[in-house]
Amino acid sequence: MDFIYEGLSTRVIFGIGKLKALSSEVSRLGSKALVLCTPEQTEVANEAARILGDLAVGIYDQAAMHVPVETARAAQSEAVRLGADVYVAIGGGSTTGLGKAIALEFGHPIVCVPTTYAGSEMTPIWGLTEGGVKRTGRDMKVLPRTVIYDPTLTVSRPQMLSATSGMNAIAHSVEALYAQNRNPIISLMAEESIRALARSLPQVMQEPKNLEARSEALYGAWLAGISLGSVGMALHHKLCHTLGGSFNLPHSDVHTVIIPHATAYNRDAAPEAMQRIAGALGQSDAAEGLYQLELILGTPTKLSDIGMKYEDLDLAADLASQNPYYNPRPVTRDGIRALLEDAFSGEHPRKIL
Ligand code: NAD
Repeated sequence: MDFIYEGLSTRVIFGIGKLKALSSEVSRLGSKALVLCTPEQTEVANEAARILGDLAVGIYDQAAMHVPVETARAAQSEAVRLGADVYVAIGGGSTTGLGKAIALEFGHPIVCVPTTYAGSEMTPIWGLTEGGVKRTGRDMKVLPRTVIYDPTLTVSRPQMLSATSGMNAIAHSVEALYAQNRNPIISLMAEESIRALARSLPQVMQEPKNLEARSEALYGAWLAGISLGSVGMALHHKLCHTLGGSFNLPHSDVHTVIIPHATAYNRDAAPEAMQRIAGALGQSDAAEGLYQLELILGTPTKLSDIGMKYEDLDLAADLASQNPYYNPRPVTRDGIRALLEDAFSGEHPRKIL
């Protein structure tokens, strides 16, 4: 055995109703909290501000997908105007991303309250979009210092988004298991995350208000977030980044449609990872197991159903094979084009030659 493991230093508060711990958690880090949310989540942000009482200096409610640089600048100005010394991001990856954009500039701590399964709260990765191009980077300054996971906050999420966001989390764990810098601790977390999400997501879909199932799904998403933040990703994440960025496809839908096919692409090159993924899914084949889970959840399985045009597949294959990066199996333009063909029509994941 030969590995490097570096733990992420985030304090985690997990449990039903734990939003009420916000005030004591924030006061450990600062005294002037700026609450961040999207325009769709002002209700929960108001609740957070109410819990914070005098600790809250304001709410900035314009968080948007992929953190447009104009939004980041406006939020930074608001943070300065209000003298904020801690940022409370309540929402999904877009809101966490806005908190990171402010922390990157000023270095104040973030307290994050995730309401989706995206996992950004466990990573030191920031992203900013300018002129349609998204830049990303790593900086420990943006890793949230405290994360409060309260499963009750995920109940309001539209059902299908819970399923696709859960598949997005599973995709982090799948790639963590064959990452170039994988290590035994993160692999344990990644495997457990797939097991927890595969077990709970069908229940979440059937009984949206079942808080035990919601807790297990959020626990799985937390472990997936740690996996994403700790080891490098590969073909799946690069391809989804290209499809999302260049063709404007919805983030968690793209991850959902692509993950069975990216797994099939790597099937023969990462046998141990495949065995662990399949085992966690309770299936004999990892890629087919992921596809079957999607059929149970009723998520999209075709790129054609989420806004991709067939005539753009060639360009997507060109873009996704342009810059070399690590993947257990070498990435070729023809291989990606074949993968995209299958994903476009929603075929069962097959052996891509
Ligand atoms: P999102 O944050 O864009 O949320 C989508 C919509 O759902 C928003 O309108 C949001 O307000 C709403 N919403 C979220 N939770 C809700 C709830 N519980 N009830 C009702 N509405 C709710 O979606 P996301 O999938 O969480 O995040 C996607 C973004 O996060 C992408 O930009 C992606 O690139 C980024 N991301 C970054 C990292 C990282 O490490 N930096 C990791 C994962 C994702």
